Amino acid sequence: MSNDCLFCKIVAGTIPARTLFEDGSCVAFPDVHPQAPVHVLVVPKQHLVSLAETDREHTDLLGRLLAAAAEVARMQGLEKGYRVVINTGHDGGQTVGHLHLHVLGGRHMGWPPG
Ligand code: AMP
Ligand code: ZN
Repeated sequence: MSNDCLFCKIVAGTIPARTLFEDGSCVAFPDVHPQAPVHVLVVPKQHLVSLAETDREHTDLLGRLLAAAAEVARMQGLEKGYRVVINTGHDGGQTVGHLHLHVLGGRHMGWPPG
């Protein structure tokens, strides 16, 4: 846990979020500024700044996060498909310094739209 980390505070319950999924490794909750009809964040309970800070010792956790994303997508009824995004670092557009997966769906996410 990092004391000044937003997602660590959500994991700890000191900042509220509507938990949609939880297991020993991660929690999932809706993004506060959704970019699609379904926009859920999957967040590891362990504080890791970004994907760039992971290596082979995190293989198990990274697999659990992807499996959780698939579980969230099933729970949200995204049978037509969805997009999973991991923004990483400044150039990746990451704004919260705690690794997280975006699960986006409920509309066509590709190009052209529709
Ligand atoms: P990123 O830009 O990839 O770091 O994604 C961070 C995401 O966290 C953004 O999509 C924000 O809308 C979202 N976010 C920020 N604060 C909260 C919060 N308190 N609860 C849920 N989502 C949040
Ligand atoms: Zn954190």
